[in-house]
Amino acid sequence: MNQNQDISREFAALISALRSDLSYRHDLGFLEWITLSVSSHLPAPVSSPPKKVSPCLSPQQKGQLLEELRREIGVCTRCKLHAGRQKIVFGVGDPNARLVFVGEGPGRDEDIQGEPFVGKAGQLLTRIIQAIGLKRQNVYIANIVKCRPPENRNPQPDEIRACEPFLLRQLNIIRPSIICALGGFAAQTLLMTSEKISSLRGRFHNLGDIKLMPTYHPAFLLRNPEMKRDVWEDMQMVQKEYQGEDH
Ligand code: SF4
Repeated sequence: MNQNQDISREFAALISALRSDLSYRHDLGFLEWITLSVSSHLPAPVSSPPKKVSPCLSPQQKGQLLEELRREIGVCTRCKLHAGRQKIVFGVGDPNARLVFVGEGPGRDEDIQGEPFVGKAGQLLTRIIQAIGLKRQNVYIANIVKCRPPENRNPQPDEIRACEPFLLRQLNIIRPSIICALGGFAAQTLLMTSEKISSLRGRFHNLGDIKLMPTYHPAFLLRNPEMKRDVWEDMQMVQKEYQGEDH
């Protein structure tokens, strides 16, 4: 069995383990499940009730909590990705954003600059955001893992387990109403499924109160420009949902 098959099997096992928690997540509601103590760096065990973050935080309070979380992550060595990184890529944008973009992990440019989506793929994401009438500073952008995987490989299950709780806590502080998952890996991880991005995209999925739209990753679009039409359709649905909230 080659290394890729090993990783696939391990990922499938992780998905299956996470699925067994799914009814628990549904019972609690997604946001309650992802509500982890803001003073703990470890994911709350699914068998104990997580502490709540008030749903009525002001934008300022959200900003402060995000800063606290960033301080708590510190010079993180909680998974092996720390060994090759230059900078932790925490996330950037409006702490009170209603729309959050989630990618897979930092690439080379992001690793150097410490900010998500700043390379060519990032520039394309910026244009996508502008195409739906928003600016980068109106949304929040983060990744499943905060350190660059070597050679831009997919994050491995143990790395996701170590890092995903931070993303969930970010989401729980920001409390967006819409998440756009960029690429199959982000969509599969957040939705706990092994379904392909090609079948996940094109419709909203419910994560508790959050509407999640999976779409292709901008880096994939750069290599496959013929898929831009699909992404545009996905983003038009996101725009409609976003604007619908204003009424
Ligand atoms: S990927 Fe996440 S858990 Fe791993 S070292 Fe970086 S910040 Fe820590």
